[in-house]
Amino acid sequence: MSQGQFISHCTADALKSAAQQLKSGTLVAFPTETVYGLGADATNADAVARIYAVKGRPADHPLIVHLADAQDISEWASEIPDYAIDLARSFWPGPMTLVLTRSELAPDFITGGQATVGLRVPDHTLALAFLNAFKAIGGKGVAAPSANRFGHVSTTTAKAVHEELGEYLAPEDLILDGGPSQVGVESTIIDCTGDAPRILRPGAISVEMIEAVTGVKVVNRDDVIRVSGSLESHYSPDAHVVLDGHPRPGDGLIALNDYPTPEGAIRLASPINNEDFARHLYEALREADAQGIEQVVVIQPEGDGIATAIRDRLKRAAAKG
Ligand code: AMP
Ligand code: MG
Repeated sequence: MSQGQFISHCTADALKSAAQQLKSGTLVAFPTETVYGLGADATNADAVARIYAVKGRPADHPLIVHLADAQDISEWASEIPDYAIDLARSFWPGPMTLVLTRSELAPDFITGGQATVGLRVPDHTLALAFLNAFKAIGGKGVAAPSANRFGHVSTTTAKAVHEELGEYLAPEDLILDGGPSQVGVESTIIDCTGDAPRILRPGAISVEMIEAVTGVKVVNRDDVIRVSGSLESHYSPDAHVVLDGHPRPGDGLIALNDYPTPEGAIRLASPINNEDFARHLYEALREADAQGIEQVVVIQPEGDGIATAIRDRLKRAAAKG
């Protein structure tokens, strides 16, 4: 049975009451500009444990703490290098997560037992109003992974959250509807514990943007991946994802709008540029599953910036065994 109360008209009063519920241990799914998050009070061990249960996520995976204001990072982080301050000033609120050495406030159940904590100020009116309402009643921060089952496609609409997690939520849990996410892929995660920023996950904030504001050369995550040799499967729909292939009749197709649809293929998205591609990718993959399509061909966008983030997600979506 589907649970979780859907709040489509998020007035100031509704957000205040959602913040109070969060404080009392309820889960609140909320929109951000990247994807929807499944939120819990980041200082409440029981509430955070429910995030893991609802997502079916391994407990050693750290969670990102969402904050109302960039100033709040000093509560959660004990060491903040100058380049991280430059990044926070330039890109928050925005699609960027900073990984910093944690303070005593950041418990093991948030950091996965690591000495670092991931922090983000999202750029979404409703998310910021909700985070501010929580802060106003003494809340320290909202732990929120993407609102999807572990390993599955992230959600970019409230309806998708409901379909994805409804059966795992409790009746008192909330889903706030703030419209479709405008970025559409998860935040750029930047490790700020070394001498230079290191990208752990590409997103809308690109290497070029980071180097421009910090004046420091970025160390790329790819260097690390090559060492470990691991290629995890993630962001996967039920459908089999094939990259840059030729769609057969009955296959789904996601490609930029100048790519023609071969006879019999089912066009799932025709984004007009790379930003639009990111914005619609996850809904298009969900649509493939909704239509029972077995195989989806995705023609990957070329170039830097957000295209790098899209190709990163697609590589993992296609890596499904
Ligand atoms: P999601 O919230 O679903 O976008 O996933 C959160 C991502 O943030 C995961 O891939 C985590 O590995 C990463 N993350 C969060 N906190 C940290 C941290 N302290 N160190 C490294 N990665 C982190
Ligand atoms: Mg996720």
